[in-house]
Amino acid sequence: MTTDHPNRVDADNGDRYSPLSGSSSRVESPRYRCPVASCHQVWYRHQASDAIPHCPIHDLALVRDSKVH
Ligand SMILES: [Zn+2]
Repeated sequence: MTTDHPNRVDADNGDRYSPLSGSSSRVESPRYRCPVASCHQVWYRHQASDAIPHCPIHDLALVRDSKVH
């Protein structure tokens, strides 16, 4: 009996696939964070037209997080 499907795909994230005609083959949302080291406010910029928000705690503009996980 073969009941498992090794090629099964979870389609939860597949509805917004938009290939870039450029150097990158995968879409990544840049992560922004509060410049205060002890603050854990983070925000992901999903579109280039999105305005970068301010940290609601420190009222500072979020900065691009260079660390990529
Ligand atoms: Zn903050």
